[in-house]
Amino acid sequence: MSLLIKNIKELLQVRDSHISVVKGKDMKILPSIKNAYLLIDHDTIVDYGSMDDIQNLDADQVIDATGKMVLPTWCDSHTHIVYSGNREQEFVDRINGLSYEDIANRGGGILNSAEKLQNTSEEDLYQQSAKRLQKVIKLGTGAIEIKSGYGLTVDAELKMLRVIKRLKKEFPLKVRATLLAAHAIPKEYKNDKTAFVDLVINKMIPEVAKEQLANYIDVFCEKGYFDLEDTERILKAGKEHGLIPKIHVNQFNAFGGVGVGVKYEALSVDHLEEMNIEDIDVLKNSATMPVALPSCSYFLSIPYTPARQIIDAGLPLALATDYNPGSTPSGNMNFVISTACIKMKMTPEEAINAATINGAYAMGIGTMYGSITKGKKANLIITKEIPSYAFMPYAFGENHIDNVIINGQII
Ligand SMILES: [Zn+2]
Repeated sequence: MSLLIKNIKELLQVRDSHISVVKGKDMKILPSIKNAYLLIDHDTIVDYGSMDDIQNLDADQVIDATGKMVLPTWCDSHTHIVYSGNREQEFVDRINGLSYEDIANRGGGILNSAEKLQNTSEEDLYQQSAKRLQKVIKLGTGAIEIKSGYGLTVDAELKMLRVIKRLKKEFPLKVRATLLAAHAIPKEYKNDKTAFVDLVINKMIPEVAKEQLANYIDVFCEKGYFDLEDTERILKAGKEHGLIPKIHVNQFNAFGGVGVGVKYEALSVDHLEEMNIEDIDVLKNSATMPVALPSCSYFLSIPYTPARQIIDAGLPLALATDYNPGSTPSGNMNFVISTACIKMKMTPEEAINAATINGAYAMGIGTMYGSITKGKKANLIITKEIPSYAFMPYAFGENHIDNVIINGQII
């Protein structure tokens, strides 16, 4: 089964296979071919080039993309899409003046989601999550990382990870799973956080590793949640069980979490709304990807990750949604890209690099996803007719996607 896309106005993010990450000034460059074709065999990109050089290419199916752009699907490297119920009541409460703390005191927040999830069957949780996944694929996401963390008990965390495993099996897009047991401190452990960290280390991590339910280990490293010592203990235990660190840091406070992530060779450090010079310096000597989540800043009205400071220091940056019921009830990567350009002063080239090739790196799948490269998976977005790729972030809030192709199949 072969598919030829011809007369592509501009084929974006065309890269040699040895490029796995784009940093600093290079992020301003988005390699492309104008008036291009692209050939897919089964699920793989096998050829592309200028229409001027097209050989009599025979294909089972042909798409004429006149006036349209083709680019790799978004790689959303940070989500929490497996959850039960929504929290729009808290959203309304916040509009009416209640603080995050007031809401937490009334039983809201992560603990609210955890209680709901604990009382939801695995089947129901799967159905709710599958709907969301279906939606984000239509919005152009072709690879996604999904975290646990609304379970907070051994059974409920395992339930979440089994749901992620089933999503991985039932859906064509690439799915990576992360154990985020240390997302919040459960009520029962309110006065004994160490006992909960012990439970994560001694029970959850070994169990999850035994069942091979996760690729990554995550911690919400933040004041009032898990401190540097807790984070170190959990990352160390995760690594000993083959789980690669990928952590939440510097959302509200910068107190050294980035350094701990780098020390344990985290694949990514995510959030980074609050950054100091030490955090930038420590990242310079690492292979750790900084990840920004602008929809979260938008929704909570908190500062945006200082993308300019990070990129201008020569570092790479990835963009992801943080799709979750509390702080980002949206999995729309197109909105993320617009917001990164509008609010974080990233150029469209930087934002697209951050959401494709660097996003793939941040979820450890760069060899097969994130760019138009021979041999990589044919996961593609075909846009509607648009004047230029800068039009995508510019005309925000509008759907510019005509078709999404996953593993060579039109969705
Ligand atoms: Zn998150």
